[in-house]
Amino acid sequence: MSLNRLFWLVSLALMLLFSVLAARIVLIEWDAYRRGARSVDAVRVVQLTMLAMEKISVERGPSNALMGGDPEALPALRKRLDAARRDSDEALFHLLDSLRQEVDPRYAPAIRKIEAVRQALGPARERIDQQVGLVRWQRSSREITEAVDGMVDLIPMLVSSVADLSSIAIRSDPEVLDGLTGMRVAASLREYAGQVGSKFTAPVIMQRPLTKSEVIEIGKLYGRIEQLRTLLDIQMRAYKDNAAFRTALSDLDTQYFGQGFPFLDGLLQTGLLSGSYGVSTAELAARYVPPMASILRLRDVILVDLIREAEIRHRQAFNLLVGAITMTLFAFVFFFMLLYLVRQRVLRPVLKATQLVVGLAEGNHDAPIPQARHKDEIGDMLRALQVLKERSLERISLAGERETLIGQLQLSSNTDFLTGVLNRRAFFAQSEQQLAIAQRYGRNLALVLLDIDHFKRLNDSYGHLAGDNVLRNAVQKIAQLLRKVDVFARYGGEEFIILLPEADLGQGVAVAEKLRAMLAAQAFALDDGRELRITASFGVSALVTEEDLDQLIRQADEALYAAKHKGRNRVERAG
Ligand code: GH3
Ligand code: MG
Ligand code: MG
Repeated sequence: MSLNRLFWLVSLALMLLFSVLAARIVLIEWDAYRRGARSVDAVRVVQLTMLAMEKISVERGPSNALMGGDPEALPALRKRLDAARRDSDEALFHLLDSLRQEVDPRYAPAIRKIEAVRQALGPARERIDQQVGLVRWQRSSREITEAVDGMVDLIPMLVSSVADLSSIAIRSDPEVLDGLTGMRVAASLREYAGQVGSKFTAPVIMQRPLTKSEVIEIGKLYGRIEQLRTLLDIQMRAYKDNAAFRTALSDLDTQYFGQGFPFLDGLLQTGLLSGSYGVSTAELAARYVPPMASILRLRDVILVDLIREAEIRHRQAFNLLVGAITMTLFAFVFFFMLLYLVRQRVLRPVLKATQLVVGLAEGNHDAPIPQARHKDEIGDMLRALQVLKERSLERISLAGERETLIGQLQLSSNTDFLTGVLNRRAFFAQSEQQLAIAQRYGRNLALVLLDIDHFKRLNDSYGHLAGDNVLRNAVQKIAQLLRKVDVFARYGGEEFIILLPEADLGQGVAVAEKLRAMLAAQAFALDDGRELRITASFGVSALVTEEDLDQLIRQADEALYAAKHKGRNRVERAG
């Protein structure tokens, strides 16, 4: 796999892995944020339910007062009751409205229960109204108690709804557990405090002693109220540093447990003995209901704290979510930059360098090597490549020079340095070849040997340098008369040898004669302007049978010797 491909594959895999991780982190934070929002919503719905519960409890005050009220006080009490009923209706309507906006199916049971409470409210009120319409002697203790209980019986359904809604809130945000429990304890305390007050409605209206069962009921409620007060201490330990809570708790102790509760306790003592309470239900309500407000204040202190804390957590979750998204975006940008850098500064230069190295190996020196732009390892590599390229070019030019030198050397080793024609060694090499060809194909071959006459004398008279000059010039003139195929060489001193392929003895003699005439006719100019003439003697031999080169040369040499002997400046043939 190519590096480039590998790079893209690895990048893609890393990108996928990274995206999954980032999405997971963002989703976790998103979920925490959503849960926070749900928790705040759920706590608010619990609050609305408690408020509805409170309004229905409060409604019992004027209800009970009206049932035992003096005829003169009726219109005022009626007004209070109507207002209390409107409050209850409004609280229930508001609660149901909020609940119906929740799409979460977990809210369904609570909605059903509260709907049931709303429907049961009408008949319960009717029973109260029936009692209000009766004159004193028409009333019965049992019916009054039933009418009172009709309102009280609505409460357990609401308590159960509070429990349902609380558990939804706690599941979204376990941190609200303590506060919600505290609120529920306070709400229950308010309910039982109200119920125990209501227990006196019928006896006060009838101004009779408490029945045995009423005493037992009141005793049970006392027990519950004390339990709930203890539970507040135990459950709300986490709140003991909360100043608002401490104040509310101490208000509860002075107002409800210090005033309201002892007042009721006094009525209980009277109810056990005589039944002459000395108060009407309206006076009972006026003295007992206000201290109960301290219980609700405690509940509300907890609620405010709870919602504030939940909102803080919700905000924190939001900040964490934003942080996670920002970090993820940053990480993505960083990741892309890293990929870009690796590609630009490592991968591309390496690929380019590979191409160049391969090119150099194949002898391509034309591709330019890019400038190293950074002081890093890749830069070092590019610089090294440049050096490699230069060395490679140097080597190539050296190799060229060597070839030329070898050629020159070969030439000089085959050439006579003075005249420039072949030397004796080269003559033998080339002639052997020509001889072999001639013998193989039965072709003619002639050999001419020539020696300049009285050259010693020329040297002696004109100097060695002049002799050299004459030699060079004579060779030039001879070469001009020869064919390309003829092999012309300096045989030694002022003696030359010519091999004539495709020439028989007669043709060889003719060539020799032509050369002899040319030399004899030629005037050779000296440096000082003087002219001199030379002659030469020739011996010619030719291939007849199976002669070798030495034999041919010997025959030509003998003929040359004969030419010298016969007076020089002449041509003699062998045989
Ligand atoms: P001949 O051949 O006619 O009998 O007389 P010759 O004087 O040429 O006799 P020989 O062959 O004995 O002498 C050759 C002379 O050529 C001897 C030498 O001084 C001269 N010679 C040989 N080689 C060179 C050379 O390269 N340059 C010069 N200037 N002279 C050379
Ligand atoms: Mg000689
Ligand atoms: Mg000679």
